[in-house]
Amino acid sequence: MICFLGIGSNIDDRLSNLNQSIALISDDLHINFLQVSSFYESPPMYNLNLNIFLNGVIKISTSYTPFQLLSKVKKIELKMGRKESVERYENRIIDIDILCCENEIIESNELTVPHPNIKERKFVLEPWCDIDSNYIIVNENRKVKELLAMLPDSLKLRRVN
Ligand code: AMP
Repeated sequence: MICFLGIGSNIDDRLSNLNQSIALISDDLHINFLQVSSFYESPPMYNLNLNIFLNGVIKISTSYTPFQLLSKVKKIELKMGRKESVERYENRIIDIDILCCENEIIESNELTVPHPNIKERKFVLEPWCDIDSNYIIVNENRKVKELLAMLPDSLKLRRVN
């Protein structure tokens, strides 16, 4: 199954945190790393007091089910020192979101796929366009680049690589 993951960090050396998360994801025998986007600096969206994030998107293929993949990415977050959060939105060393897993639609307490906030997040859609702008998000029935075009121009992300 092909999956897209969103990665983000806003503490310490953000670039090295993103690269470390990709290395840990790629190390797993059930995951094949396929592609990574450029990385983008984006201002915090929900809690405006947070640090500026560095975000990217990666494409993998995996023999895991989406739930197994979620458990794997949560383990990687903890291994990298992510604190069990109390607040919904806070500074974090690493955040890994499952964006899409082909045509899977999952709505459970632990996992929602496609990720429910994709269409409001430029920091997801813009890097995703680097990899596969024509990818159709299953329950939106729209391409990644179409969703990006629907967001206001006012928010500019800074591409860093
Ligand atoms: P976050 O603070 O963004 O890391 O949210 C983490 C929680 O969101 C996890 O405990 C997951 O169970 C839940 N979650 C629901 N859907 C997803 C998804 N598509 N990708 C990652 N986490 C998800």
